[in-house]
Amino acid sequence: MQSNLAIAKKYAPHAKACAVVKANAYGHGLKYGMLGFAEADALGLIELEAAAQLRDLGWQKPIILLEGFFEPSDVQLAIQRNFEPVIHCTEQIEMLESTRLESPMKVHLKMNSGMNRLGFKPENFRAAHARLKKIAGIKEIGLMTHFANADERQHPVMPVDEQLNRFQFASRGLPGERSLCNSAAGLMHPEIAGDWIRPGIILYGGSPDGSSVKKFGLRSAMTLTSKLIGIQEICKGESVGYGSLFVADSSMKVGIVACGYADGYPRHAPTGTPILVNGVRTRVVGRVSMDMMAVDLSPLPVAQVDSPVTLWGDALPIDEVAQAAGTIGYELMCALAQRVRVEVRTESDGPAQAE
Ligand SMILES: *Cc1c(COP(=O)(O)O)cnc(C)c1O
Repeated sequence: MQSNLAIAKKYAPHAKACAVVKANAYGHGLKYGMLGFAEADALGLIELEAAAQLRDLGWQKPIILLEGFFEPSDVQLAIQRNFEPVIHCTEQIEMLESTRLESPMKVHLKMNSGMNRLGFKPENFRAAHARLKKIAGIKEIGLMTHFANADERQHPVMPVDEQLNRFQFASRGLPGERSLCNSAAGLMHPEIAGDWIRPGIILYGGSPDGSSVKKFGLRSAMTLTSKLIGIQEICKGESVGYGSLFVADSSMKVGIVACGYADGYPRHAPTGTPILVNGVRTRVVGRVSMDMMAVDLSPLPVAQVDSPVTLWGDALPIDEVAQAAGTIGYELMCALAQRVRVEVRTESDGPAQAE
């Protein structure tokens, strides 16, 4: 986490970094996110409860609420705990107008520059800004937007440059810090970084476009490991697991791994999804079940019960597993289940891949 943050900062050396720790720090644990990103200039997240927890844990630098308030009562909590909300709709401005702000608050006004998810349309942005400015207690208004396709600059439908132009045109002359870039934009178009970057996935060693981890020197923060708890020898024509989706075309050994969809491994990972046993690459076979999955031991004549298994990590990029399963690394990280035992290793404990 530390070295990934350093890489994010290196690509945008003049921008401050808001490390995104939403969704339990993308499945890594909020507290570990906070410790790992101690060098960040701010933490950004969605959940107010988690934001309060960060304050309880001692985080004193800014905390940005990336979707702002959900309820009027959130405004008080934000004031008390000194959160900086994103303001993306008129209803949120109304919540601020109808609350007496006892201490000064910084907010971030979001423009919908083309993603059409959250934010004020460019033509309404200045009016929203003027309305916010009138509220006593608002001491600073940051300006932000979010790209739909930062990982593909020449996107045929909504290119980065189109959103960038709309943002720049509609915010021209307004005071305030600019925040535009998620991981993909910060790494791939650092020239548009502005005053703040908002990296998420790269801080955990995942790739925003499924392929750039090596290129940028990112390292997996999370390594998911298990072991073989059983071995079956099956004959040609026999099948493995629910639905008998995999049928052996010759006699073979199959390893049973103690990991399933209740641990967060994707159930839709098909036969062929890469996995490491004893550090050797092989494939998942058959349907992933709740607590177990099967692997092909053909390349591993010496594998036995207790042999270590790596589901993802530096030695097997999560993006590769995700791609095989038709999803993205983000989803796999976030889905890591509560029951998985978490061991935290720091650099001084030795390499994370200590198998
Ligand atoms: C989640 C999020 C990010 C981080 O996105 P990554 O693709 O993980 O880098 C940045 N900005 C906002 C507003 C977000 O919600």
